Amino acid sequence: MNEPGTSYEGSLLLTLEEISQLVAHSHHSSETLTNIVRLIQGRFHTAVCSVYFYVPERGELVLGATVGLKSEAIGRVRMRLEEGLTGLVAQQMSPVAVADAFAHPRFKYFPEADEDPYHSFLGVPLLEGGTLQGVLVVQTREPRQFSPSEVRMLVTVAAQLAALVGDALLLDQVSAVVHPAAAPAPTVPGIGNQLNGTSLSPGTGLGRAYVVDAVEEWRRDVPAKGRGVVEERRRLIEAMQRARAEISRLSQHISELVGEDHGAILQAQLMIMQDRTIERDLDACLEGGASAEGALLATLDKYVAALQKVATPFFHERIYDIKDVFHRLLWQLRPRQQTDPSDDRLVLVAREASVMELFAVDLDRLAAVVVEHGGPQSHAAILARSLGIPMVGQLSDFAPLAQSGRLLLVDGSAGTVVLDPAPLCVMPPSNAGLAAKPLRDAEGSRGAIAPLPPGLPGIEVNINLLYEARSAFNLGASGVGLYRSEFLFLARRTLPTEEEQVEIYRKLLHTLAGRPVTIRTFDLRPDKLAACSHFGSTAARPFDWRLVLQSPPLQQLFQDQVRAILRASTVGPVRILVPLVTSSELLDFVLETVARARDSLTAEGLPFAADVPLGVMIEVAAAASLVSAWAEQVSFFAIGTNDLAASALGLDRDDPLLAHQADALHPGLIRLIHDITADAHAADRPVSVCGEIAADPLGALALAALGVDTLSVPVNQLTAARQALAGCNATALAEVKTQLLRQRSTKAVRTLLLQSRPCP
Ligand code: PEP
Ligand code: MG
Repeated sequence: MNEPGTSYEGSLLLTLEEISQLVAHSHHSSETLTNIVRLIQGRFHTAVCSVYFYVPERGELVLGATVGLKSEAIGRVRMRLEEGLTGLVAQQMSPVAVADAFAHPRFKYFPEADEDPYHSFLGVPLLEGGTLQGVLVVQTREPRQFSPSEVRMLVTVAAQLAALVGDALLLDQVSAVVHPAAAPAPTVPGIGNQLNGTSLSPGTGLGRAYVVDAVEEWRRDVPAKGRGVVEERRRLIEAMQRARAEISRLSQHISELVGEDHGAILQAQLMIMQDRTIERDLDACLEGGASAEGALLATLDKYVAALQKVATPFFHERIYDIKDVFHRLLWQLRPRQQTDPSDDRLVLVAREASVMELFAVDLDRLAAVVVEHGGPQSHAAILARSLGIPMVGQLSDFAPLAQSGRLLLVDGSAGTVVLDPAPLCVMPPSNAGLAAKPLRDAEGSRGAIAPLPPGLPGIEVNINLLYEARSAFNLGASGVGLYRSEFLFLARRTLPTEEEQVEIYRKLLHTLAGRPVTIRTFDLRPDKLAACSHFGSTAARPFDWRLVLQSPPLQQLFQDQVRAILRASTVGPVRILVPLVTSSELLDFVLETVARARDSLTAEGLPFAADVPLGVMIEVAAAASLVSAWAEQVSFFAIGTNDLAASALGLDRDDPLLAHQADALHPGLIRLIHDITADAHAADRPVSVCGEIAADPLGALALAALGVDTLSVPVNQLTAARQALAGCNATALAEVKTQLLRQRSTKAVRTLLLQSRPCP
């Protein structure tokens, strides 16, 4: 950059003059922007100058023009405002100057941009009328300090540029609408063959669309007439062999992930495929001249029609299995290019984000998931994050995705899907199969990590699948604050028996080797379960744990689970946690059930630990005010901020449009968490928070300030959560708490927390 002492006014004026020259001679908005960044880079003598657009609908910054970074990164490097140093500029709406960006806690590496050689960073916001338009960034190769006058100079340039950036973005969008065919290659979101959605799980994945429940899709394209009965029979037999192998692999994987000895749900599918009557029906169609695909569709129609006549929900449910089997076979029959390696990888495309559907394809080949409905707190999204599968939801247009076999490039971090990506613009998939994939975290270490300083919360982990337990242990987690046991239902439509559960819980406790494990009893919600036939007439209805008081089968299920947890307690320290306790009647039922379970185990001579703590989850506002009334009867409280935020703010956490508004940093929720914690502490009961907010660096700071005893975060965010609290001390937190309780908007809460973050 110019040395201090030069006439800034002079150099700035010249720059503006040049800018207007450039605008006059540019013929396209992206050309204008490229010329502008080139000019600034030249004037300021930096290695890099880039402009990032702010896209308010998506809360994201997108690289719009650059000199110095890779040009392929334009339109592809995106970040939320919570990400990276550029995000920090936008978040604070003020300059950020860093001598060595790599050493800064907010530094985020974007491999697409090739930022490796650039150390220093100076970013200033592009503000027009107080509204954020984007961020202007300059970078140099060597680490260096920026002087206050250099910062001021760039701020002034940015002030002149902001309007231009806003107009350029607008022009690009307008011209794409008016002349769609002539529109340039996409540089901004929403243009070209890229669909925009919401990021549900980070990472990128490339593969062919595997559309769930899309049998109808095939009807249009497959040949009805065959090429001779011998040839069609051969094709069908080969497709069956491949599908059978896939189902076996999938069963095996599910068993490993969940910890059960069978992927039970898929056994039913194998059975259907081996059914002699179905085999004969298919053969009759082939003899009649049908293609393998035509025979499958005709036979499927026959069976679906017959099943629909049978009234019971149990049989209706089977239609799903049958369709799934036939869909697998049709998929195996599709023409494929042997030379195309991406042919082997699948992107699961589904309308609903049901956890069950995540397991529709072989996990080893699952590159990514795209769903039409479901927000970031949906359980399918939580599970995808556990598994490290990129996932995008709430796409602007779903129809083009629902085409089986179409090549899709899913960017789970940016929340985008590129249709039919050209070979050159395809990044290698970051999700390289789950079987061999350990959970990643910044640091791995065996043995529990030393606790944070006194006055700060302990940090435990959330586990959804048994396979995460090993990583949790290796990363030094001090315990499991939440094991979502209902994920056991993933692989089955039958109830896990007491014995099966004892086995799994023992494995879990054994893996954690003496560190406490909180097993949450089944949190039965519609999005977690396929319709369950084992609950009699309630089968077809969505299902809610709170119905337990009226449902003997549910009462039995709960009793079996409590017994199983108690029986496992001989292996290691375990806590029982009950979800969504919303009334004293429900709590009384829980207490009676636990007492009955203890009595029955004693009577049967089955050993269990005497001191298994019982906790309840506070997930609705009405329960929050009953904490004092319940404290005597329970050992601890856990706040489920995912549900509490949604219910207290009147939002559905799966709602595609509103879910992002369920921000647990709402000042009303901050006060609610404060009150719950204060009431629990007054009765000498500890409080943990296991919602996603605990893993957000600002959320963790807020919860620490509010005096929460334990945070429980996803395994792959354990290190980040520890880092977020590392520099905190009790005195500073007390001040943050006082301030927090005075704020009146979410934005003000966030700003306060940002300013209060401890320096690394
Ligand atoms: C919560 O609601 O915050 C929670 C941890 O439970 P779940 O996300 O499983 O509903
Ligand atoms: Mg919950």
